[in-house]
Amino acid sequence: MKRLAALLLAVGLALAWGPKGHELIAAYAVYDMPQGPARTYFAAHLKALKQAANDPDRRKSYTPGEAYRHYWEAERYEPWPFPDFPMPLAAARARFGEATLEQGGILPWAIEESYNALVKALKADDEKAFLKAAGDLAHYVGDAHQPFHTTTDFDGQSWLNGGIHALFESTIIEAYWDDARDYWPKTVGPAREAPLALAFEIFREDHPLVITLNEELWKVKRLYSEFDKRYYKTLWNGLFGLTARVQINRAARRLASLYLRAWNEAKGR
Ligand SMILES: [Zn+2]
Repeated sequence: MKRLAALLLAVGLALAWGPKGHELIAAYAVYDMPQGPARTYFAAHLKALKQAANDPDRRKSYTPGEAYRHYWEAERYEPWPFPDFPMPLAAARARFGEATLEQGGILPWAIEESYNALVKALKADDEKAFLKAAGDLAHYVGDAHQPFHTTTDFDGQSWLNGGIHALFESTIIEAYWDDARDYWPKTVGPAREAPLALAFEIFREDHPLVITLNEELWKVKRLYSEFDKRYYKTLWNGLFGLTARVQINRAARRLASLYLRAWNEAKGR
C-alpha cells in the first residue's frame, strides 16, 4: 500500500506545474482581466475553469497524441532564440518533418488550436466548448511558462539534477505557495500578438531559465542535503522559488491577455 501511494505521488508530481499550479494560473488570469463583460463571463465559470485547466494532463493516458502537446524542446528544432523558426504548423512540418515534431513536441500549436477553439465557442455561445477550450488554453499557456517544458534536458539530466522538474513545478509550490504573498495582481489588456507569436516569445524568455535553475539548485545542494528541511526553504526563498513565482504570475497575465483577445475577436470588437 505504501509503495502504491509513493507511486501515485510520483505520477502526480510528473504533471506539469502540478494540479495546483495550473489552477492558480487559471484563477489569476481571471483576476487579472479588467472589469467588464469578458471578466464577468469568465468569473462565472471560475470553478469549472480551474478543473478544466488540468484536463489535458488527465487526457494524456487515453488520448493518442496528447502527450506531445505539452512541451516544445528547443534543441530539437533551432538554437535559442530561434529567430528563423517557421511558426505556422505546415511550415514547421515541412522544415523538420513529422517525426521531429512528435519527438520535440507541438506545444505552440496546441496553444494556437485551443485559442481558435475558444474564439469559436465564444462566438457560438457554447458553454461546454468554452470550458474545454478555455481550460486547454490555460493548461498549455501554463506549460509554456515551465522552462523544463522547453528543453530535451527536461529533468536536469545533464546537470545530474534529476528530479528538478517536479521540484520546481510541484514540490515547492505545494509546500509554500501563499496567495496573499505570491500572487502579484496586474490588470492586463488584450494580447497584441497572435497566439503563436506569443508562444515563441514565451519560449525565448523562459528557455534560458533552464540554466539559471540548474545552477541555483547546485548552490543549495552544496549547503544542505535534500533530507534537510532547510533545503526546500532555501530553494523557495532564493532565485529558484522566485522564478516559480515569476513564471506563474507571467503565465496568468499572458493567459488573461489571450482570453481578452479571444473575447474581442468573437464579439467583433
Ligand atoms: Zn501539461
